[in-house]
Amino acid sequence: MRYFLDTEHIDDGERFELISIAVVCEDGREYYAAVEGYDPSAVTPWIEEHVLPKLPPLGDPRWKSRRQIRDDLADFVIGDEIEFWTMCAWSDWSLVVRLFGRFEDTPDSWPMACWDLWQLEAELGLTRDDRLREPDGVHNALIDARYHKRIYESLRRLPAARSE
Ligand SMILES: [Mg+2]
Repeated sequence: MRYFLDTEHIDDGERFELISIAVVCEDGREYYAAVEGYDPSAVTPWIEEHVLPKLPPLGDPRWKSRRQIRDDLADFVIGDEIEFWTMCAWSDWSLVVRLFGRFEDTPDSWPMACWDLWQLEAELGLTRDDRLREPDGVHNALIDARYHKRIYESLRRLPAARSE
């Protein structure tokens, strides 16, 4: 079962912190959460302009603790032969693993690595110019995770599992 990831996160060179996360399954299920209690002092101008306006309003139930997000992901990401996919995998994957602690602390059925759409594009001889056009609303993790799923489907020439 393939799962497509995206995170929005702070990386100011020292702090590397999850702000929001989305996981979209190839079967059409979707998960999204924003992280309660992320460090606002670490927010960069770029994050302030591009990411914060796309987070849920305060009080929205999609704001969750890191512990809740971890438990939700363990329940959500299930199935046989699980694969994670994202774009520029190192950052998203590191942040997912950190929700659990160490690599060894992620669920036993999960793989140790996340596949990278950039690498798949490169192996196919494609560049960023060949990529599907970005949807409106990028830098919202759910929109980006759906986009990653569509990129994968286009690279593998799979019919879209569901329309948006
Ligand atoms: Mg994103």
